[in-house]
Amino acid sequence: MRKRLLSGMRPTGPLHLGNYHGALANWVRLQQEYDCFFFIADWHALTSDYEKPDRIRGYTYDILLDWLSVGLSPEQSTLFIQSQVKEHAELYLILSMITPVPWLERNPTYKDQIEQLSSKDLSTFGFLGYPVLQAADIIMYKPFGVPVGVDQAPHVEITREIARRFNHLYGPVFPEPEVILTDTPKLLGTDRRKMSKSYGNAIFLSDPAEEVAAKVATMITDPQRMRKSDPGNPEICNVFDFHKLYSPPQFVAEVDRRCRSAEIGCVECKRRMAEGLNAFLAPIRETRRHYQERPDRVEEIIAAGRAKAQQTARRTMDEVRAAIKL
Ligand code: ATP
Ligand code: MG
Repeated sequence: MRKRLLSGMRPTGPLHLGNYHGALANWVRLQQEYDCFFFIADWHALTSDYEKPDRIRGYTYDILLDWLSVGLSPEQSTLFIQSQVKEHAELYLILSMITPVPWLERNPTYKDQIEQLSSKDLSTFGFLGYPVLQAADIIMYKPFGVPVGVDQAPHVEITREIARRFNHLYGPVFPEPEVILTDTPKLLGTDRRKMSKSYGNAIFLSDPAEEVAAKVATMITDPQRMRKSDPGNPEICNVFDFHKLYSPPQFVAEVDRRCRSAEIGCVECKRRMAEGLNAFLAPIRETRRHYQERPDRVEEIIAAGRAKAQQTARRTMDEVRAAIKL
């Protein structure tokens, strides 16, 4: 029996290169070794986007295509949509009975998000209870680990506390899941801030080649290099970091040398990087096209993921109901 892992993403937009290097690439590796459950957390998207829910369904589909196109395999992993497995709502309800409100109020991401997203009214019960829903999503599948970025570590900690409290009150049902920190190399966007769906600085996995080239052309390079004749410093250039990801090693070395000696200008350097990036994206685009042309296959994958997740979720809920004598 392979050990189980579980992780998810919120459908708040299509996925970008940062999501790929920060999370997806790791998932694709992990699925070889572990029994992985990956879900699209559409109810979670609703906690912050309840006023404008109309795009959640579209993004859910986009993300599924993104996942398939980078090589998450429906044969190796269970890929499912949270809202299709209603057991999550039942477990959330039950866990809400035993979760002390102060645990949620002291959650560091809670206050932080309320400040960050001050344009939205997040003074809702659902937003406060977000970590309880997340705890239900996780422990439902009794995973041994949850691979996430460090920003999610406090939520997994609350999950462990809720699982412990449940076991203490009703008997041992849930193992406490470990956080598996993915050492996320932070990828910067075209403006040198963290690449992010909400900053307008992202290169998406689904961008066509011309769009990728156009976005790369706007990337901020070494800010000290004003003219082509000025020697550049690759160490502080975001485009150079991208070369390291997408260009062959001998070319990276060449760029390094020719930038410092002002033999290569930023325009050419970016054009060459965009070529490497587009070569990296080509097989991803191909796989995406494969699935786009087969919507029935995608529906089949969604249905199969739902059935597999439900099977496990139903078994867990039988145990839960027995433990609480309902
Ligand atoms: P939002 O702007 O809505 O927060 P986002 O672009 O930051 O969106 P998330 O959905 O928050 O994306 O993150 C999904 C996953 O991708 C997380 O595991 C996160 O750590 C990772 N990730 C997001 N942005 C980057 C980035 N720039 N570099 C590396 N990893 C990233
Ligand atoms: Mg984010």
